[in-house]
Amino acid sequence: MICAHPDDEAIGCGGTLRRHVLDGDEVSVVFLTSGERGGHGSEDPGGTREREAHEAAGVLGIQRVEFWREPDGRLRASRELTGRLAALIARLGPAVLYAPHRADDHADHRAAARLTRRALTAAGHHAELRCFEIWAPIIEISAVIDISAVIEDKLRAIRCYRSQCAVMPFDAAFEGLARYRGEMHSWPGGPYAEAFSER
Ligand SMILES: [Zn+2]
Repeated sequence: MICAHPDDEAIGCGGTLRRHVLDGDEVSVVFLTSGERGGHGSEDPGGTREREAHEAAGVLGIQRVEFWREPDGRLRASRELTGRLAALIARLGPAVLYAPHRADDHADHRAAARLTRRALTAAGHHAELRCFEIWAPIIEISAVIDISAVIEDKLRAIRCYRSQCAVMPFDAAFEGLARYRGEMHSWPGGPYAEAFSER
């Protein structure tokens, strides 16, 4: 799972990650930046968000997290970073890879999407790419995962990001999105789902 900021993993696919854990899969998360520009006045914003990320990983049961501490707000799919990610992908050999979708409405998320595509190519590794939605909804859905049984875990993980939820009620917003995806795109599943695109 590749994400630009601590909270993207819980917001974008916390329910699906929880399901992987419950199915016995190993889940690794790379946080490309620590979101230090989104501290909303806290003294050590990057450190705060990293601590919140560890807490959220505990809620979801994620076994492994890495913080790469690239600059928040200025993430680039550089050659160096592509090489680093390609090496990790080659080593872990994930069957499924989660990343932001390429048209998300945040420059860091789009950079993370580019980086993931380039790293997959560089690694010569074939994984199912599932791209999640945060700041803009996806249009072309390639996978829908029913998260009805784990929606409360997802919301608890999101609420670990107190520094973020104090400014915007992400739990309410993404409970709403999951409900929409569940009712509209997960039939006959639902009522809660996460939707993904291939790109
Ligand atoms: Zn983000």
